[in-house]
Amino acid sequence: MSDPIPEIRLPADLLPTDGRFGSGPSKVRQDAVNALADAAPEYLGTSHRQAGVRSVVAGIRRGLAELFSLPDGYEVIMGNGGATIFWDAAILGLIKQQSQHLSFGEFSAKFAAAVAAAPHLKEPEVIESPTGTHPEPRSNPEVDVYALTQNETSTGVAMDIRRPDENGLVLVDATSAAGGMRVDPASFDVYYFSPQKCFGADGGLWIACCSPAAIERIERIASSQRWIPPSLDLSIALENSRKDQTYNTPALATLFLVAEQIDWINDHGGLEWAATRCEFSAAVVYGWAEESAIATPFVARTEDRSPVTATIDLDPAMDAATVAAVLRENGIVDTEPYRKLGRNQLRFALFPAIEPDDVAILTRAVEHIGTRILEN
Ligand SMILES: *Cc1c(COP(=O)(O)O)cnc(C)c1O
Repeated sequence: MSDPIPEIRLPADLLPTDGRFGSGPSKVRQDAVNALADAAPEYLGTSHRQAGVRSVVAGIRRGLAELFSLPDGYEVIMGNGGATIFWDAAILGLIKQQSQHLSFGEFSAKFAAAVAAAPHLKEPEVIESPTGTHPEPRSNPEVDVYALTQNETSTGVAMDIRRPDENGLVLVDATSAAGGMRVDPASFDVYYFSPQKCFGADGGLWIACCSPAAIERIERIASSQRWIPPSLDLSIALENSRKDQTYNTPALATLFLVAEQIDWINDHGGLEWAATRCEFSAAVVYGWAEESAIATPFVARTEDRSPVTATIDLDPAMDAATVAAVLRENGIVDTEPYRKLGRNQLRFALFPAIEPDDVAILTRAVEHIGTRILEN
């Protein structure tokens, strides 16, 4: 633990063009930052109730409808606080009585725990599976919300989104998946995320793509007797989003960066392009780890391996924290695993903003560092 970080300088050909591989906050494209700097004098520091900012919000809503091929009647709503706050808003404004949760990592477990603590709801049905796998949802007529997670960022397990039945609303935590994985809008009622992952922006915002059934549920619960604080009231968020605004003041830089990233993905070919790019990076990482003498993919089933956040176990003969520290000394940052998973592991984000060539260089850099550590 307290061993000094070995001095290993990576040669120039083992240095990626960009060293950011964190799973959130994640790499923000410099082109987007430059566009923000150019727009700043007329944009930053102006009212979010006026046309300048509202046109950016409108662009986000339109751009996401295009990116996800949202059918007529689906609406994009947003508010301050990120996916974690959206869980609280869903507890108050989307779950009628009981929800079912697939719990297979830190994030999916957190939502389930927040629901379990809510005094106005029934004990949720929680289906768990060992870390590194995912459970399957089970149709249950008692349940009015199915809470699924498309990519469990803490473990690097991804799953396909399918409706368990036609009764319950399907709420998908797509925080690290949205924009980097394919999804069929017919399979969800609410597809929600924060922008600091595939959307290459800053945190602090939640965005939710909602089906007509979800909108109806939001409106019905909001007009019931249930007390909902305004900042968590999804009907107020809906009302504001329809005017291309948020209920309270948003971070204007974040909105701008999200809009830039959506345009960038749509201009390159949309979700299919982004998903293919992430899959390509994933094939590089998992292909390397399967061949390497020092690395193994953590997730056993190939179809469960995340195309957006790869978790790689290292040979017990070397300390992954030391490898991550050496990478950091060389300007390659945030490859540490999810802190509570407690494995001898590295985790790499493979989001659309991250260059596949840089991912390939990263694998060679880890191989180089690992081999040097073993030699000593
Ligand atoms: C990052 C993440 C969250 C939390 O997002 P915040 O913006 O920090 O609230 C929730 N769920 C998943 C799957 C995540 O990856």
